Amino acid sequence: MKDEVAARLAEAFGPPARDVQKVKSWTLTGAVGVVLQVDQPNRENAAYVWLPYPGDGQAIPEIAAEYPGEAGRHSGTYATPGLRRGDPALKLTLRDPGEVADVVAYLRAMAASAPLPEVRARPERAGRIRAAGPGTSAPGHVSDTAPSGFIDPASMPLPEPVKPRREAIPRVVQREVWQRDGGRCVECSTREKLCFDHIVPFSLGGSNTVRNIQLLCEGCNLSKSNRI
Ligand SMILES: [Zn+2]
Repeated sequence: MKDEVAARLAEAFGPPARDVQKVKSWTLTGAVGVVLQVDQPNRENAAYVWLPYPGDGQAIPEIAAEYPGEAGRHSGTYATPGLRRGDPALKLTLRDPGEVADVVAYLRAMAASAPLPEVRARPERAGRIRAAGPGTSAPGHVSDTAPSGFIDPASMPLPEPVKPRREAIPRVVQREVWQRDGGRCVECSTREKLCFDHIVPFSLGGSNTVRNIQLLCEGCNLSKSNRI
């Protein structure tokens, strides 16, 4: 998966500006770059891609994890534009090579300072999420015993609910959450690998307010999402 993502990013943006043991990175503009981790993950066939955190109110990809700038996740020595130490960032875990096209479109819009497109989770990924949760509804079908042209309303698929758009956490909210939580995971108090967690998940109607966002480390965040 990592090799495929690297090939597709190179196809879109040319050879990487930086190509070392742990990362490959591409520079789009003085403010926008993208980093692909090539040393992780080891246990699953996925690719971690880091993007600059977009401006307040812009669309955030559904599959993104959101990292505060203060967490210092990025190299200050070989800084990638938009991903320097102190910059908040998005981390996408890609599991389907088709998702790279969405990431490329998202980055191109960011580089052009255009409104960012929404990046929905892929159907198979959404299927996995739905299958894990309650409320799974089977797709409807046209009864083959019904007269021609007649569709039994009870067997029709339910309309897809209109999903609210996930938006960037305003910088002022990010700063307030960081200060309130003291730059530590609220579960285990580590200062390492912190990300913003929606207490009520966005998919369940949680909002980008200070009250609904807390700092969690990657480990605590993962065990929370496994519980949900
Ligand atoms: Zn923790």
